[in-house]
Amino acid sequence: MKKIISFIGAPGCGKGFLIKKFIETATQNNMLSPKNIAIISIGNIIRTEIKNQTKLGIKIQKSKREGCLAPDSLIIPLLKKELHKTKASIIILDGYPRTRSQFELLCSISKGYDLNIIHRDTQENTIKKRIEQRRICSTCGCEHIASEIKCSCGGNLVQRKEDTVWTDRMAEYKEVTLPMINEIKNENYFYILQEQNLEDCDLTSLVTQVLSNKDTKKNYLYLNMLSSDKENN
Ligand SMILES: [Zn+2]
Repeated sequence: MKKIISFIGAPGCGKGFLIKKFIETATQNNMLSPKNIAIISIGNIIRTEIKNQTKLGIKIQKSKREGCLAPDSLIIPLLKKELHKTKASIIILDGYPRTRSQFELLCSISKGYDLNIIHRDTQENTIKKRIEQRRICSTCGCEHIASEIKCSCGGNLVQRKEDTVWTDRMAEYKEVTLPMINEIKNENYFYILQEQNLEDCDLTSLVTQVLSNKDTKKNYLYLNMLSSDKENN
């Protein structure tokens, strides 16, 4: 059965890095071959649609200007198309679902898939610090920190547009995403990664659990390998 692994968390919590590390851990332990993995980032798809000023992109841009999340009616067809397009057996969703209705729609379009949701549960001030430091390359889009001057490709480093409105996005996360998380956090497909320092943590047990057969799974996994006190020292 194909697997969907959804990574969710507050804006700027480091989902991208977590996904990278998750895949690295899985491939290094021969649990997965990179060619069997597809990453679907609704955020990236939306950015591309807006950048290319497609019909859909213009509609989404309009709704964003009005200060709302892009409506499900626009996102769901995109997601469906991407799901059907991929031949990979492991489909990673980056930052989706964000609302209760997105979750319900995801459940309905992912029938026949083994759905897993990993919540990166991070402290707000840890994220805030990271956001203030984060830059992306305006040419290739890869991530940098503020102390770097240029990307190796020669591109200039800029703040991500979303990062400049992080406070608003965080408020929206608390208002619409957290209630959804609270409703589903005890389900057997839901994993909580409460880990402030991802650089040094070992994800093997999480990866093994998520990639294992559903029947053998615990209710949910709770990792807290490094305490936040340690980080503050
Ligand atoms: Zn670059």
